[in-house]
Amino acid sequence: MFEKLREYNAEEIHFRNCSETGLKAIVAINSTVLGPSTGGTRVWNYSSEDEALYDVLRLSRGMTFKNAVSNVPMGGAKGVIIWDTNKPKTREMLLAYGKFVEDLNGKFTTGEDVNMSEEDVEIMGEVTKYIAGTKGDGKGGDPSPFTARGVFRGLQAGAKEVFGTDSFNGKTVAVQGLGKVGYELCRWLYNDGAKLIVTDINEKNVNRAIEEFNAKAVNPEEILKIECDVFAPCAMGAVISEDIANSINCSLIGGGANNVLVDQYAGEKLHNRGILYIPDYVINAGGVISVYLEIQRIHTVALANEKMDGIYDNVANILKFAKQENLPTYLASDKYAMKIIEDKKKSDKKQSITF
Ligand code: NAD
Repeated sequence: MFEKLREYNAEEIHFRNCSETGLKAIVAINSTVLGPSTGGTRVWNYSSEDEALYDVLRLSRGMTFKNAVSNVPMGGAKGVIIWDTNKPKTREMLLAYGKFVEDLNGKFTTGEDVNMSEEDVEIMGEVTKYIAGTKGDGKGGDPSPFTARGVFRGLQAGAKEVFGTDSFNGKTVAVQGLGKVGYELCRWLYNDGAKLIVTDINEKNVNRAIEEFNAKAVNPEEILKIECDVFAPCAMGAVISEDIANSINCSLIGGGANNVLVDQYAGEKLHNRGILYIPDYVINAGGVISVYLEIQRIHTVALANEKMDGIYDNVANILKFAKQENLPTYLASDKYAMKIIEDKKKSDKKQSITF
């Protein structure tokens, strides 16, 4: 077990079993160097407990990096619930998970992720205050529209680098996934004059995009083969393998999806082909920024929008750093994040000596 924790440089791992409700949950707290930790909770049909453990360790490390590069003074963590997703979640199970979060006593604040809705988080909120992403005064609600705005701003920074302009007027953008983030991203791009090529496995979403944004639709398996200026992955992770990186026909990649690259070979290949990849956790950080404002009880739409617009600079900084270090962007962002965390560790040490 400690070997696995070391592999991801994780601080703590917590397990909760509740035989009465069927809850089997893991919370991984990757780092609390920047502050108490936060990260969403994913409900998934894991094929084994090991798969769930690796997923939570990997995702929590991603949260540490995401918070660091986004100036969110919080640590990285993640929760996973091992659950048969063909069955509806029960109120009892969600309450048992809420109690688990409460017992961590503020070390971990959580909210929505895959298969965890705003309503589910509200149920958890009956037994814990350490939740975010719900509705109400000073609360942020579903962060997806903010995430989409941040993704658009981040893509603008990428476009400035690649095309010399941050306007998408006349550019062809392929959007994979037209859910909460992808659809709103299409709206931003369409209003900026982009020509959209879209896909989704849900036909209703596709038809809406055709009608509302004059989008051209393609089948899900075609979206990675078409010629476009920008590819925006907004569905699931692991879309770009080394093979896809070798054949994809675009100049810029950035979207809402997490863990877009299958492995480092895909990142290397994009870099070697001169395709600019905007690291996922830098461009899609809008959700956690909104959550942070909610935790601080200072969330307003105006402030959240201002922070989303700051993602332009966050992306531009990483791209600049990658150039300086002569590194592929996916590696540069990890290095940038790790430096922020190491600097904080050093300054904390200094403070403890002073006091
Ligand atoms: P969502 O479930 O609302 O949308 C995902 C969409 O992708 C759905 O419409 C689904 O039908 C479609 N899809 C699934 N598989 C597909 C495939 N193979 N081809 C084409 N379409 C497919 O989710 P969302 O909230 O929009 O999130 C999208 C991505 O962004 C996810 O990877 C999520 O982890 C990530 N993300 C979301 C947020 C947020 O604030 N919602 C924040 C950060 C990251």
